[in-house]
Parts: sequence; C-alpha cells; structure tokens
Amino acid sequence: MAPKLPVYLDNNATTPLDPRVISVMRLVLETEFGNPASTTHSLGWSAEELVRVARENVAALINAAPEEIVFTSGATEANNLALKGFAECCTSCAPENIRFIAAATEHKSVLDPLHTLASRGYPVKILPVSKDGFIDPGVFSRALETGPAFVSLMLANNEIGTVQDIQTLIANNRKRIVYFHCDATQAAGKIPVDVTELGADLLSFSAHKLHGPKGAGALYIRRRNPLLRLHAQLEGGGHEYGFRSGTLNVPGIVGFGEACRIAKTELDQTRQHLNLLSQMLLTQIQDKIPGVKLNGSPFQRLPGNLSLAIDGIDNSRLIGLISTKLAMSISSACQSASPTPSHVLKALGLSEAEQRSTIRIGIGRFNTEEEIYYAAEILTGAVNKIRTERASINVVSDR
Ligand code: PMP
Repeated sequence: MAPKLPVYLDNNATTPLDPRVISVMRLVLETEFGNPASTTHSLGWSAEELVRVARENVAALINAAPEEIVFTSGATEANNLALKGFAECCTSCAPENIRFIAAATEHKSVLDPLHTLASRGYPVKILPVSKDGFIDPGVFSRALETGPAFVSLMLANNEIGTVQDIQTLIANNRKRIVYFHCDATQAAGKIPVDVTELGADLLSFSAHKLHGPKGAGALYIRRRNPLLRLHAQLEGGGHEYGFRSGTLNVPGIVGFGEACRIAKTELDQTRQHLNLLSQMLLTQIQDKIPGVKLNGSPFQRLPGNLSLAIDGIDNSRLIGLISTKLAMSISSACQSASPTPSHVLKALGLSEAEQRSTIRIGIGRFNTEEEIYYAAEILTGAVNKIRTERASINVVSDR
C-alpha cells in the first residue's frame, strides 16, 4: 500500500498529535471550560484538578516535583524567562557582574535573549563547538575561570541532533556555575531527561515536540536550596507561583500532561523505533546516493534526526522537487521565518557549499518502515535528477 502523502519527516520542527492526546484534549475543549483559578464553583475545581494531574505527568518525565513546573506557551517563552528572568531578578546587582555562557549552536530563543542581555551590559560568552557540535571540556572550564557564570546549554541540537555530554560538563565545573539552564526541548520524550542527573537548576521543554499540542510548554525551576529567583516576564494575577501570570491554557496543559505520560511510559520503545528507522534510512540513502555526509555526531545523536549534506546538491531545489511527496526541511523551522544561513551549520565549520546542500530529516513515533523505503526512493530519484541535469549543463558549457 502506498503511504499517505506527503510522508511527514519533519518531526524536529513539530510532531503530530498522538490520538490519545487528542481524546483527552477533546474532553476538555467540549466540557471542561472552567478557569482553574476560579475557586468558587465545581467547573473551576475540576479544571484545577486536570491541571494538577497534568503537572504531575509533566514533572515526572524529567524527574522533577510538580511544584517545580511553571507552565508557559512553549520553550521559547521558557528560555526567555530563564535567561532574562535571572538577569533581572537582582535589581541591586550591576549587569557587568552577572556573566552568561552558552554555546554557538544554541537555539535562537536562547541566543537572541542573550544578545539582548549583552546589549544591556551583561557579559555574554558564546563558546565554539567542534565539527561534530560538541563543546570542548577544556574550553568550557577556561570560560568559567574568569569568574562564576550562569550557563545555558542545550541537551540535544534541533538541527544536527548532537547530544551534548551535559552531565559531565556541569558536574566537573559545578563550583563555578551560578545556575545551569538546560534547553531540553528536542531531547524530552526521545532520550532520558533527569534534572538531578543533568545538574539542571532550570530546564525548558515544549509539548509540540513530543506529540502534544502547540502553545504549551514548561520551565522547570528547582525549588530545593538555595532558593532560585527569577523576575517574571509576564506580570498580572500572579499565576504559576508568581513566575508567569495569565489564565492557564487548560486544554494545552492537559494535552501536554498526557503527551508526557505517554512519552515516559513508551520512552524505550520510541527510542528503539526512531533509532531503527533512522539507521535504515541512512543506510539506504548512503547505499544509493554517493557523496552523502551525516552532520553532527555519528554516535551521540538524537534518535530520529538525520542532518545530511549531499554533495553538489542545492537543498532548496531538492526540497522543491520532493515537497508533494516528502515533508522535510532545510534547517530549523524557526530559522525558516528568517531565511538566513543556519548558525548551527556555520558553527560546525561547514563550507558554504555543504551548508547549502544540507537537509534535515526528522523521523517520528508514527513513521513506518514502509515510509522510510519510500523516502529513500524519492530522495534518490530527486538527487539523481539534479545531478543528471547538472552534468548535461556542464557538457553543454564544455563544448
Ligand atoms: N529550543 C529548541 C532546541 C527547539 O528545537 C525549539 C523549537 N524549534 C525551541 C527551543 C522553541 O520551542 P517552542 O516552539 O515551543 O517555542
């Protein structure tokens, strides 16, 4: 049976809702319209109860306590709250005394707030990465020698899939790290994420990357000693322990909770499935298409992510040729809003030609082996077509 088209292979941009998430959300959308902050009637109480259960499930996925979860609109907001919230919480501190460290391959929702903070006078150090996307432990320790800093590092990269050895980096430098914020948006639901093991004081993640709805995410804020303070970026009714005001997005939060519950229960299964399908696709592509290079680490990578540089191919042309059959991307969806070259591929030291030839494939929980065979066939056909066209142009110009 032919797969349903287009085959969705852009799961690092977003994921389809799990049908089990849809059914709990439908119930909330149809009947549970109460405001969890309404304390005077049963509709408010039942909405509050739904949020309480969701908070437990969201916390459990990252081994946190429920009261350490602050619901946000997604990981962009969580990252902004962590970084700007920390910078602004100390009104008596001079900005030049609060240092920030992050890597060049962080998501724009970390790098852009850091640029803003740098423009306000906060020292910000952006670390280079190796050609596979790793932070050199020596470079990291030396960056901390200048003085203690707030560190923000992602666990898994959204473009190239490299999974950083966060635990070792943080544990080896703990004394010089004021707070550690981890962007675990791509990792949550695909590999184990444990705030204690990572040594995270703050951790961001998002529902729509793990088969939950868009518009719901969370910032984990460690509540054990020492007390961690953040200046709220949204002020108002004092919701979410005062960290984030605004009436809670109950359907989104309930969907997020269910998505986290499923992700935790099925983590091993999901991981195996994604690893199997990505290995299958990579092998088939490399067998059929000469000159395909895997960007990022070949070993420590996010299950399901394949970032491929295909020799001599223009990625926009390739994506244009296959778009009715395969949904995949050039770099990240967030980058697509501003069509600039990928800062991640640049940070790896890829040549301009390699950057232009890179496509990102994101395999998800619902992809099948049949879709993988189909994707390899379509990609091979399109690459061959581009290469044949180019060869004939070269022949004509050689005459
Ligand atoms: N961080 C990373 C690593 C991401 O991949 C994304 C989404 N592309 C975000 C942050 C932002 O997440 P959201 O879409 O929930 O704002």
